Amino acid sequence: MAELDRSVIIAGGGPAGLMLAIELGRRSIPTLLLSDRPSTTSFPQANATQARTMEHYRRLGFAAAVRSIGLPADYPTDVAYFTRIARHELARFELPAAGAASDLIKTLSGSWSAAELPHRGSQLYVERVLRAEAEKLKHVTLRFGWRVEAFEDRGDRVTVEAIHLESGEKRRFAGAYLCGCDGGRSTLRRQLGFHYQGEAGVARDYMGGRMLSIWFRAPALYRVIPNQRAWQYWAVNATQRGLLVAVDGHQEFVFMFQLRPGEDESRISDNWAKAAFHQALGAECPIEIIQRMPWTAGLTLVAEKFQHGRVFLLGDAVHLFTPTGGLGYNTAIEDAVNLGWKLAAYLKGWGGAALLSSYEIERRQVALRNTGFARHFANSIGNFVPSPVLDEETRAGAAARAEAGVYLNHHAREEFNIPGITFGARYDGSPIILSDGTVPPADSANVYVPSATPGGRAPHAWLGDGRSLYDALGFEFSLLRLRPKPPDTTGFVEAARRRGLPLAIVDQPDAALRDLYGADLALIRPDQIVAWRGNAAPDDVDRLLASVTGA
Ligand SMILES: Cc1cc2nc3c(=O)[nH]c(=O)nc-3n(C[C@H](O)[C@H](O)[C@H](O)COP(=O)(O)OP(=O)(O)OC[C@H]3O[C@@H](n4cnc5c(N)ncnc54)[C@H](O)[C@@H]3O)c2cc1C
Repeated sequence: MAELDRSVIIAGGGPAGLMLAIELGRRSIPTLLLSDRPSTTSFPQANATQARTMEHYRRLGFAAAVRSIGLPADYPTDVAYFTRIARHELARFELPAAGAASDLIKTLSGSWSAAELPHRGSQLYVERVLRAEAEKLKHVTLRFGWRVEAFEDRGDRVTVEAIHLESGEKRRFAGAYLCGCDGGRSTLRRQLGFHYQGEAGVARDYMGGRMLSIWFRAPALYRVIPNQRAWQYWAVNATQRGLLVAVDGHQEFVFMFQLRPGEDESRISDNWAKAAFHQALGAECPIEIIQRMPWTAGLTLVAEKFQHGRVFLLGDAVHLFTPTGGLGYNTAIEDAVNLGWKLAAYLKGWGGAALLSSYEIERRQVALRNTGFARHFANSIGNFVPSPVLDEETRAGAAARAEAGVYLNHHAREEFNIPGITFGARYDGSPIILSDGTVPPADSANVYVPSATPGGRAPHAWLGDGRSLYDALGFEFSLLRLRPKPPDTTGFVEAARRRGLPLAIVDQPDAALRDLYGADLALIRPDQIVAWRGNAAPDDVDRLLASVTGA
């Protein structure tokens, strides 16, 4: 194919767009990213990178860079609940500091059998790492300050009309494919005429309605809060609920609170916003607002379609979450991981057309699943009704606090210990997954049961040499051989060579690993999903490889 025919244009430079650029650039696909902002996000939106996202960052070699951003290495990432942040503590879920993560994960098993723990750090900083990683790739061109206004799918290529916002210069770009990573107001989705489906406008006491986030500086705040440090401080009382998130662990914070019906965000003064924070704090402390951002909680929306012709949609452009559970940005990253290798494989010639159409099939079902989990958490915290005496220094107040503590301790462990959500997403029923007829474990938010039933994440293990099994896999497909005397796999090697399919043969003769995988052989996709498993190469290996590569 000509150079031009292999190029991909990405609209949007948030997490989805930058991650897709990295996945494509790492595979030498010429990629042009156009984003209408001057740079990466200027507001700390998402504040949690889930463990599965961290595993993908590890696969690409920059998990350590992400692990180092945000809070200091020894800052606990606890989630804590208070009547008011500087007053009574109601509940606390203790979570490790970033500096402990890489040692701790090696000691865990079962649901937390993983290469990485989550990282609690702001999207503000994560996007900078993603941008720096994308900039290192010679096939990736990032152009910030360019807005995509329209596109035309010409059947054999796609053209894009874009405007440089500062100079007003208009240009047309052409590529083989266009990917809309242009967020919730996606220009591309609108032009395609795809609608979100699901719930919007759900009203809850908290996390269901119009919200205002204020990002501020308050060097004295840690001295005002008498309680042990936390990453998230939730204020739960009958008059002012809100969530305070530590951004840098020194002086920067974000406070998110819900506006009451009739409160118009454009007419709210900084002083009014500060007063709302002070009510939730239950004390006075000088704060300097850096920026404010209104947003809407209570959305459970997934677009009806994720692709049409040469145009794909990813991230918020096709799914909108309530932030409970911290899944919006993470689901966007996994969209990019899923599409990245498929698009590159197709453009390089070893992937077939069914690989491209499998993107929507696989990712739409995960978007429906994940938005559903987020809604459940929003109901759990948003519909909790704080007792009117919760704050009182009376026996009734103390009893109400004890009762609220039981509820909130349970809720915290449900929302913030979610290995089932992060590792358990599956692509069952996808045409490029070869089912072996076994039934996968039940889908549950808080429990992850490692399983090599094709369609799910390849079960993780630490190897004898201290590496993660994932570190031993190839960058594209891997055939894992788990017996000291593995079955003959020359058929795989030859069929892969004929197809131009990059296949790494990975020998890990370990009885425990063989038990974990329930088979002698497992074929693992570039996104670390088990595509097939068996005890011997099938007679028609070529057909197997054709299926998993959508040929
Ligand atoms: C207050 C808040 C808290 C949140 N907390 C969490 C959390 O804890 N965990 C979590 O996972 N998620 C959270 N989220 C959600 C998360 O921020 C989003 O899901 C995530 O940013 C989606 O990434 P994206 O790349 O799809 O879209 P975006 O981040 O919206 O990026 C879209 C990009 O496209 C650009 N763009 C838009 N239109 C055009 C155009 N026409 N041409 C060119 N460029 C364009 C934009 O400038 C932007 O750079 C939160 C969101 C909010 C508002």
